[in-house]
Amino acid sequence: MSTRRFHNVKDEDEEYHKVRRKTENEETHIYLLKSRGQHLLMNPRVLNSIVQKSNILPTDTVLEIGPGTGNLTLKLLEVAQKVIAIEIDKRMIEILHKRVSERGLQDRLTVICQDALKTEFPQFDLMVANIPYGISSPLVAKLVFGKNSYRSGTLLLQKEFARRLLANPGESEFNRLAVNVKLVADVEFVMNVSKKNFLPCPKVDSSVVKIHPKAEIPEVDYKEWCAFTRTCFTKKNKTLGAIFKHKRMLVELMKLQETKGDEENNTLYSDYHVNDTEDKDGLSNEDNVNFSSDVVKDLNLFRDIINDILRSGGFEDKRPSKLSHEELLDLLSLFNRARIHFHGQVKLMESDAELASAFCPL
Ligand code: SAH
Repeated sequence: MSTRRFHNVKDEDEEYHKVRRKTENEETHIYLLKSRGQHLLMNPRVLNSIVQKSNILPTDTVLEIGPGTGNLTLKLLEVAQKVIAIEIDKRMIEILHKRVSERGLQDRLTVICQDALKTEFPQFDLMVANIPYGISSPLVAKLVFGKNSYRSGTLLLQKEFARRLLANPGESEFNRLAVNVKLVADVEFVMNVSKKNFLPCPKVDSSVVKIHPKAEIPEVDYKEWCAFTRTCFTKKNKTLGAIFKHKRMLVELMKLQETKGDEENNTLYSDYHVNDTEDKDGLSNEDNVNFSSDVVKDLNLFRDIINDILRSGGFEDKRPSKLSHEELLDLLSLFNRARIHFHGQVKLMESDAELASAFCPL
C-alpha cells in the first residue's frame, strides 16, 4: 500500500533524512531528525514479534512513547482496545493520524503532543514502544518509579543500554541503573534487533527488553535510595570502606545531616574551603579539601561512625559493583537507623515528571 524512499540531506546544524511516504491519496515527505532519535522501525517481522511478546489483551490500554509515523501503532491497534501515544513532533502526528484514519482505527487512538518526560502518564496497562534512545534513562525511571500501576513495559532500546539494564551484580556492565531498576522491577531479555531494520540506519544495534514491575516493592523512599546508590556507585569498583573515606563526600554528607537535624548546631561545618595544602588527618583527600581543626575533629568522628556502620554489616571490604540491591538496602537501613541520610528532603515524589528528572541519568 505504501512505499518509502529516503536519501541523505545535509543541513547546517542537523543531519537528517528525507522520507517519502505514499498514502492512498497523496504523497507526504518528512525529514527525520537525528536529534529527536527519529529512526523508524521498518521490518514487519520485528514489529510483529514486539507486539506478540507484549502479551496484549483485547481489553488493554497500551501506552506508546514516540509513535513516529505509526509503524508500531498500527500493529498495536490491531490487538489492543486502546492506544495512547505520546509524540513530541507534530509532523509525525499528522502522518500517524492519516494512516490510522485510512484504516478506520482513529476512535481507538489518542495522541498526546508533548515531551514524554514532561507530561504525566495517563492510566495504562502496558507500555510498548520503540523509544527515542536519547531519553532511555529518564523514561525507564519514569516507568518503573512512577505512580502508575502497569503490567509490563516492552521497550526497544539501544543494545548497550539494554545490557546494562539486564546486568547482575559482579558483571562488568552492572551499575547504578541496573541496581535502581532491580529494586522495583524485573527485566527480561526478549531479542536483539539489527540496526538494518531501521530507517535511517542508526550507528547502534538494538535489543527488546520486557520490564515487569515487582509485586512486592521494598518500603524505601526512592529519593533516599537513589541518592544512596549515587554515592555508592561514584567509584563502583572501589571498596565501600575506601568510598566512604573520600573527604569531599564525607563533608557533603555531614552537612546534609546538619540541615536535616538540629538547626542550632548548624554553624560548625560550614566554613570549609578547598586548597592545595597537605592533608594530615588520615582521610582520603583526592580533592585537596582542608578545614579548621574543629571541623577536622567532627569529620573524623563522623568518619568513625560511618566506619562502624560499614564494619557492623560486614560491608567495609565489599564493592558496590558486586552487591545486590537487597544487600545495598540492608546497608542503607543501617545508615538510616544511625540517622544518616543521603537525601535532603525525604518525601514522596510530587509527580512523575519530577521523578524522571530526579533519576536522570539513572
Ligand atoms: N516508534 C516509531 C518511531 C521511533 S523514532 C517506529 O518504531 O517507527 C522515535 C520517535 O520518538 C520519533 O517520532 C520522535 O519524534 C519521538 N520523540 C523524540 N523525543 C521525544 C520525547 N521527548 N517525547 C515524545 N516523543 C519523542
